[in-house]
Amino acid sequence: MTSTTFSMEELVSLCKRRGFIFPASEMYGGINGFWDFGPMGTELKNNIRDAWWHDMVHCTPDGPDGEPLSIVGLDSSIIQNPKVWEASGHVGGFNDPMVDCRETKSRYRADHLHVITNCEGGGRMYAFVDGDQESYDRASKLLAKYEKVDSLEEGYETTLLVDLESSDFERVVGPDTKEVGTLTEPRQFNLMFDTTVGATGGEDSKAYLRPETAQGIFLNFMNVVDTMRVKVPFGIAQIGKAFRNEVTPRNFIFRSREFEQMEIEWFCHEDEAKKWYEFWCDVRKNWWKSIGLTDENLQMRQHESDELAHYAKEGCGTFDIEYKFPFTDPGFGELEGVAHRGNYDLTRHGEFSGKKVDYFDQLKNERYVPHVIEPSAGLSRGTLALLCEAYTPDDRPSKVYMKFHPRIAPIKAAVFPLVAKDGMPEVAKKLHDALKKRWVVQYDVKQSVGKRYARMDEAGTPYCFTIDGDTLQDNTLTVRDRDTAGQERINIDQVESFLSEKI
Ligand code: ATP
Repeated sequence: MTSTTFSMEELVSLCKRRGFIFPASEMYGGINGFWDFGPMGTELKNNIRDAWWHDMVHCTPDGPDGEPLSIVGLDSSIIQNPKVWEASGHVGGFNDPMVDCRETKSRYRADHLHVITNCEGGGRMYAFVDGDQESYDRASKLLAKYEKVDSLEEGYETTLLVDLESSDFERVVGPDTKEVGTLTEPRQFNLMFDTTVGATGGEDSKAYLRPETAQGIFLNFMNVVDTMRVKVPFGIAQIGKAFRNEVTPRNFIFRSREFEQMEIEWFCHEDEAKKWYEFWCDVRKNWWKSIGLTDENLQMRQHESDELAHYAKEGCGTFDIEYKFPFTDPGFGELEGVAHRGNYDLTRHGEFSGKKVDYFDQLKNERYVPHVIEPSAGLSRGTLALLCEAYTPDDRPSKVYMKFHPRIAPIKAAVFPLVAKDGMPEVAKKLHDALKKRWVVQYDVKQSVGKRYARMDEAGTPYCFTIDGDTLQDNTLTVRDRDTAGQERINIDQVESFLSEKI
């Protein structure tokens, strides 16, 4: 079954029940936009993180002509000198215009609102939140009632709220009201969290929690060039927390206020930017597929020119890798952006710091500020996509199993003694001790074996090994496959090679 056959409530409930994700500060009623990863969620997220680091940094793919490529890693500070954010363009406009509802006090990102209206113009316009089916259904229903029609199939159109004239706003009904004219026009709103550095406080000691990991990479570009014998083209990769005071955190961990990013800044010569842009779009889409996202749930979308961020106005543009989440279905939501950032960031840091930021290419005998192609992925959002993809309703006792790719499954295998007597636990324990040195393997002896299988199905464990009476006679055990629930017998000495082959 596909990921579209269940509701988000069901997934959120499994995540809670099986220790993947909990609301942060749950004991105190939670805090909007923050989440804690439980034991299972931490393993899952770490596996995705490690797969990315392994595949991008340690085993960087070869280039378009088969040439070896180089990416080095970095772990920069979350708090940097506040001037960094002036140079990057985040202070003084990070960077999303907002719309407030005067009646409900709700706040929306202007570029996330659409209105649906009569093509002839002049009538009411009903606003809804992009990618939110419920909001769309509400707006359509109210419009149909207002227009006294049964269907909106003909004669009605949808437009972006930001494309409306100022004078149109008095005809707009907000996504959560029934009154016209309650929405303000879009206004700038700063999404950065600030904090105070040192004991004295005051404006001078104000600093910011980074809203993206990318700037730490630009700040260290010259350090890496001077110390690591790297030659353009090359990349710097970083994984870490980012913070955005999102106006409307929503859809579970899809849009939260604290999240993790996995970013590569690929430094290249301007003349080669297009080639690398295409290369990275391809590599990154295939990577998500390699860890389990299916083609039918992935889509590549080129940004329209009016959507581009300030740093990407010129050049090759931005490509979003999008996933069909249950709450966007039949539409898609961003998972990763691949952007040509030009040489905006390095140039600005050069200007604002007064330090030289450039690169001398000995082969070409040319000094220049490299251009950047940036594949910027959400680790938290990627974890959500993989949870959605894995969630498989079924008629087995657990009613659902998590079909994780073995590489990212939080637990790779479980070892069960059929019953806790007759020497079975001793054999099972010995097998568990051998396997756990290489993989995350769980030993479970409690309850019936059916219940143990069900627990492992919900945790997404690909294989269970059961030691029974026959094991003591002939050294064989049962392997149960999560996806087919099929069982076969193999020799206990083959378990390690069986798992290495499968994982
Ligand atoms: P969106 O349009 O969804 O706000 P964005 O275009 O602002 O995203 P980028 O600045 O390109 O996002 O960040 C790169 C990646 O970081 C996104 O593709 C997404 O996976 C992740 N990301 C961004 N904002 C959030 C958030 N609030 N919560 C979780 N992940 C996020």
